[in-house]
Amino acid sequence: MNASSIYSGPVFEMARQQFEAVADHLDIPTHERARIVIPKRALAVSCPIHRDDGSVAVFQGYRVQHHLTLGPTKGGTRFAPNVDVGEVAALAVWMSWKCALAGLPYGGAKGGIAVDPRSLSRRELEALSRRYMQEMIPFVGPHTDVMAPDMGTNEQVMAWFMDTYSMYQGQTVSEVVTGKPVESGGTIGRREATGRGVAYLVGRAADTINLQLNGSTAIIQGFGNVGSVAATTLQAAGVNIIGVSDHSAAYFDRRGLDVAALAEHVRKTGALAGYSREALFDASDLLLQECTILIPAAVERVVTEKNASLLKCRILAEGANGPTTPQADAILRDRPDVFVIPDVLCNAGGVIVSYFEWVQGLQQLFWNETEVNDRLNRTLERSFQAVCKRATQQRLSTRDAALSLGVEVVLKAKRMRGLFP
Ligand code: NAD
Repeated sequence: MNASSIYSGPVFEMARQQFEAVADHLDIPTHERARIVIPKRALAVSCPIHRDDGSVAVFQGYRVQHHLTLGPTKGGTRFAPNVDVGEVAALAVWMSWKCALAGLPYGGAKGGIAVDPRSLSRRELEALSRRYMQEMIPFVGPHTDVMAPDMGTNEQVMAWFMDTYSMYQGQTVSEVVTGKPVESGGTIGRREATGRGVAYLVGRAADTINLQLNGSTAIIQGFGNVGSVAATTLQAAGVNIIGVSDHSAAYFDRRGLDVAALAEHVRKTGALAGYSREALFDASDLLLQECTILIPAAVERVVTEKNASLLKCRILAEGANGPTTPQADAILRDRPDVFVIPDVLCNAGGVIVSYFEWVQGLQQLFWNETEVNDRLNRTLERSFQAVCKRATQQRLSTRDAALSLGVEVVLKAKRMRGLFP
């Protein structure tokens, strides 16, 4: 890629390196590669808001649309202090492979604002969310680019996005975002979808390596939407949750933690800190503790070349996007004792149920919870089987198998359509 590209930084570099490895495997000619991996377009906006003290603060926001070859783009919006255009672009690229692997009619997109949402009052958060969507109006739409929640955003933020877009259009356009509250046109089961999907795939990975879920142990990094739902669902399946962490604290107890009490504490206080003194643990050591299932469900690049050989888990279930660096991946490839469920497969439950929400919104015909969950599991099952089959037949890691299946779909569509989308 051109050295003056706006897409740079360690996270974009990760996405690019992963793509190059898969492109080598698929024998994609060099001249076709840039067209597949470089995002179609990006928008950077500044979002000024009035703070509660009367001052004005300006926040930088982004949206990147990776490709428009298979339909509208789709992807979350992240509110976090370190968001930049390179990170957002990488997340958009991963969304493309994820949607293609799951057979969804979307390209990948992602957006974000460089802000710590915890530093804003509710009024300031609403003002920032609305201002960001206002700036995005010419760039998004139910058939152009559909937003969803990601780290630091939630159903309430999606409701503000949807309302701002709708007021501009003069009518309610609920399909412009997914992950909305059910009361505002959302679907049953979207809030829980990513964590439930993670738990479903952990169960399938356990079957594959002949491991009993009941009585096994799990450690989860990140106790937000994805981490807390995965913890609750796995505990209900008999898994003992022995470690959890978030940005504020880490807890570890080999006898097991009370997930419902932890979730209630976070609901009341916004973070894990202050839950218990006895089980407090060093967050940097948490990933290295012995457990059956390790679930990074927070930020990127936490499994690195420094700790990959030290992991003591049987299943690494990537709830987060990009938790494992390519250098760590190379180490994990030589560790058949660890079954990796790669991010583009593992956390796809969110976008799959977002797709269901979009379809229901377009049709104004709503499904019940059993229908949503059955279809979610069926879609994940198809992807899981395809990944395992490709990994076995072509002697690939599960990540390379998943990525090559996704990239192949985009490649074929681009070859059929031509240069425009
Ligand atoms: P969230 O904002 O609900 O929760 C994030 C959690 O991570 C919080 O508990 C936060 O305290 C914790 N965290 C932040 N920095 C941390 C750190 N350095 N160490 C440990 N914990 C830290 O976000 P989420 O929606 O649960 O997203 C988590 C991950 O899952 C992200 O990588 C996101 O891209 C990915 N993901 C989310 C969805 C979804 O539907 N929400 C779908 C697919 C993938």
